[in-house]
Parts: sequence; structure tokens; C-alpha cells
Amino acid sequence: MINKTFKRTVLIVDDDEINREILVSILSSNYNVIAKSNGKEALDILDKHPGNISLILLDLQMPVMDGYEFLEIATKNEKFNSIPIIVETAELKDEEKALLAGASDYVTKPYSPTVILSRVKALIRLSESASALKESRLDPETGLYSRSYFGYLYKKTMDALYENEFDFILFRIRDVDSLTSIYGEDGFAKEAEFIGQLLLDLKDRNNLYCRVSPTMFSVLKPHNKENSIELINKINKLLQTNPPFNKINYDFAFECKVDHEISFSVLVNRMLAALKTLGDNVDKNVVEFEPEMLEADSKKAFITSIMEESLKNNDFLVYYQPKHDTSSEELKGFEALVRWKNPTAGIISPGDFIPIFEANGFITKLDLYMLEKVLQDLNKIKELGLKQYPVSINLSRRDLATVNINAQILPLFKKYKVNKSLIHFEITESMCGSSQDVISAAKTIKNAGFAIEIDDFGSGYSSLGIIDTIPMDYLKLDITFARNIEAKKVVVRTVIELAHALKVKTVAEGVESKEQLKIYKDFGCDLIQGYYFSKPMCYEEYVDYLRKNEK
Ligand code: C2E
Ligand code: CA
Ligand code: CA
Repeated sequence: MINKTFKRTVLIVDDDEINREILVSILSSNYNVIAKSNGKEALDILDKHPGNISLILLDLQMPVMDGYEFLEIATKNEKFNSIPIIVETAELKDEEKALLAGASDYVTKPYSPTVILSRVKALIRLSESASALKESRLDPETGLYSRSYFGYLYKKTMDALYENEFDFILFRIRDVDSLTSIYGEDGFAKEAEFIGQLLLDLKDRNNLYCRVSPTMFSVLKPHNKENSIELINKINKLLQTNPPFNKINYDFAFECKVDHEISFSVLVNRMLAALKTLGDNVDKNVVEFEPEMLEADSKKAFITSIMEESLKNNDFLVYYQPKHDTSSEELKGFEALVRWKNPTAGIISPGDFIPIFEANGFITKLDLYMLEKVLQDLNKIKELGLKQYPVSINLSRRDLATVNINAQILPLFKKYKVNKSLIHFEITESMCGSSQDVISAAKTIKNAGFAIEIDDFGSGYSSLGIIDTIPMDYLKLDITFARNIEAKKVVVRTVIELAHALKVKTVAEGVESKEQLKIYKDFGCDLIQGYYFSKPMCYEEYVDYLRKNEK
């Protein structure tokens, strides 16, 4: 920023005392003035206080060191070669020679106060804007290129070095929101300074570093995938070595052989789409960009834009998948699974939209809707004179934190007059962890009179410990056990035995073959769910299935 109020200093270098006095009197009302009688003394001052001097007024004819000699030294010295110099001349031929030697402008003797003042003022303003421009190229906190300047540099590089290939790396602080609440808005300045230093210390002249935003940083480098991954690992490690704050994690995205045609902001957007795919994954913080990630991003926008409307239009359907007794093969109940009947995209599977709804909170509305539909269907079943079997409803982690059982769930049972024993709730084991919130939510559900099934047991970081910390009625063994049943026999048997010792029933998910069924049967697993009996069915098929099982 150019400071308007602060008084600048002008250095006058002139051997003629009268000239010096005239110049001092013209300038001193607007400037601090230092007057020296030869080039050597002037250079001494400049060497000691280069930052203090805004402009030099230089006489060309002087003893000791003349103006030309002075210009030659001054324009080569990095400390002060940006200070503009006005030469005082009496002859026209001198002007040209002086301008060629590096002077910025000239004034002729005899002096006109107006001309001198306006030239001095204009030149100071010009040189200050130029240095402000130079400063804005760099981010002041980190010393890395600023985003706007880097955008320009990036385009130039991509246009000029069309034959060369580049890799681009972008990394950002994970969990910015919660960190901001701990460290405050300014809290990142220290961390940013640390990152800037860390990158500059890599001293790789082939790389360009940029601070893309307060919490995002990037590297543009010559293409070499192995080397780029190595660099990411190195930066990742350095970020954890003596950082100013503890426990700040970073996510990295990179793209190899960047397309020369795309702009810097498009490139950044591609990286952001890649970073999004990392989600809250704690094991993975590096991702390579793939074009499908952009599709995922636009798919997400599409899904988000139509979800509310779809719910109103009853485009979400309940599908029912049966659970059978392992030894008698009798029907015992169903799981309700959502399907999205989309007028343009057809039937969309939950895997494509549940994660999006979990992230944006819509899942709670959807799960309550599913519960209501299941209750309505149970009443229809009753009207048809068919036997009602328990149906389990999936609850997402988000629901456990937001749903108020008394206000949002129990009234539905009053409204549809359905017995609470006909509904079970499935919650996933991975979301249980040891989190106190989930345990207490499970207790609340249980105390309200519902059976709890722990879903997907064995899919993630399973700990047997949850079996006696979370109240549960059923433990559902994840489909991965069924898929690898031969290799997992010992584990599966142990889990079933432990569950039984604690009076918890077991359900095997994803059973497709007779062989799988037999093994689960040998181990005493209570219920089987899977394609072996049936795929999830729409309402009409569900009714047929009930009819078939009546007999
Ligand atoms: P989940 O709760 O573990 O549901 C079981 C999934 O396994 C279902 O996939 C089902 O169709 C599939 N499946 C069942 N038997 C077999 C089999 O023998 N072989 C194979 N290969 N697959 C089988 P679906 O319906 O695509 O649901 C995927 C996940 O989406 C569910 O996993 C559940 O986590 C979630 N989900 C589904 N509906 C809802 C819902 O209404 N609310 C919530 N919050 N989540 C839901
Ligand atoms: Ca389930
Ligand atoms: Ca499951």
C-alpha cells in the first residue's frame, strides 16, 4: 500500500552550494531533504539507509565522482537500484546520455519550482506503484506466489513451454472449520509462515510454489509421477516436523501431465473435486485426480437439487429383503432398503446417494420417510389379512445425533397404531466406535422399546468390545464374511459364540450360496439374509412373498 500521509525523503547530490540551497528550498515544504556535495557521500548514505530514500536528484558535473559514474554504480546496486533518479542538466546532449545510463528523468537549469515538484511527485508515485506490484506477486505471510500472480505465471508457463509436461500438487488443511474455532481467523498465519518456509527451503528451482488461499498451497513442477509422489510424502512429513501447532492434518491432490489448455482456476477446481473424494477418511490423505471426479461433483449437485422434490413426489421407494431362520429356513422378518425411482435416471442405488445425504443432512428426512412408509405398508399387509413380520429400518449416524425419538418417531407409532415390536433399527458398528453419543443414542432407542441390530459388523475396524458396550439384540455379520467364509471360519465362529454368550442373536448378510448357508448353519448363526433367499423386493413382490410364505 502507498502511504499518502507519510513524508518522503529526497536525496540531492550537487557540488554547487547555491544549487543545493535552491533545490532544498523548493522541496523542503513537501519532502525531507538530504543534500550531499558529491557522489561518494551520497553512496554512503544510500548504502546505510537505502529504504529511507524515495528519490535522488543528481547533478551530472561534480568533482570526486561525477554523475555518470554515480549512475553506473547506483543502477547496478540491488539495494537501491529501484530508487528513481532525476538528473540536473544544462545541455540537451547530457539528457540523452543520462537517460541511457539509467536516470529516470531530467530537469534543466535554471530550475522551475513547479516543474521540479511535479516531476518528483510523479516519479515517486510511479516507483511506489511498481514496487507495490512487485510485492503483490508474493503472499506477504509466506513469501510464496500469490494466487493472482501465480495464475498469470501459470498461463505464461503453459503457453510458452508447450512441449514440456508438468505435474501439479495442491494441499490444504483438513478440518479448517474446527481449527478456525480453536485458533481463530488469524491463527493460521503462523502455520502459513511455517509452510512457506518449508516449501522455500526445499530449494528446488524447477518448482513454483503458490499460496492458493489462506489454507491451500500448491506446487507446479516438471512431470515425473514418482518424483511428485515422493515430494508429496516429503512435504507431508515435514509438515509434521516441529509445526507451530500440533495435530494439523493435510490432504493432498495431484494431477500428472496437466492439460496446457486449462486455466489455473479450472485446475484448482479439479483438485478440489479430487480432495472431496477423501471425505473424512483417516487412512488416506493423498489422491490423484481422475476426470470422473468432476462427474461425481456434478452428479452430487444434480442429486442435491432434486432430492426435496423427489421426496414430495414419492420417488423414494421401500424395497424389502427377507431374513430367514438358518436351520428351519422359515421367514422371520425383513430389512427395508431404499431405492430412488428417478424419472430421468431410472432406479438409483443407495450407494450413489446415501453418502451425499449423510453429508448434507437430508438422510434424516429420508429415514423418517422410510419409517412412515414401512408403517403404512404394515397396515396394508394387515388389511390384506397377511401376517406382519418385523421390518428393520436403517439409521445413519447423522440420525442418531439429530432425531428426537419422542417427538419424531413415537408419534408415528400412535398415528399408524403399529406395535413397536414390529420395527427394529439397524445402526452400523463402524459409527459406534467407542463414541459415548452413539452408545447413549442406542440406549434411548432400546429404552423406547425397539430392538437394535448392529449392521455391517466386521466391515471396518471391528472390535469385539462393542458387543458388550452397546445394547443390542442382533449382530449382523458383514457381507465380507460371507464372501471369504472359508478363510474367515475361525473368526466367524468365535463372533457367533461370543454373541450368543451375551444373548445377542446373529444375522449373516449377503448369503448367496448353499455352501455359505451350510457353514453359517454349522456355526449356529440365527438368521440369514441374502440373494440365496431373495433380492430386495418392491411392495408388490413383498406382498407376493408374504402370501407364498403363508402356506
Ligand atoms: P446394508 O444396510 O448393509 O444393506 C445390505 C446391502 O446388501 C443392500 O444393498 C442389499 O441389496 C445388499 N445385499 C443383500 N443381499 C445381498 C447378497 O446376497 N449379495 C450382494 N452382493 N448384496 C446383497 P443396497 O440396498 O444397495 O444398500 C446399500 C446400503 O445403503 C445399505 O447397506 C445401507 O447402509 C444403505 N441404505 C439402504 N437403504 C437405506 C435407508 O433407508 N437408510 C439408510 N440410512 N441407509 C440405507
Ligand atoms: Ca442395513
Ligand atoms: Ca449391512
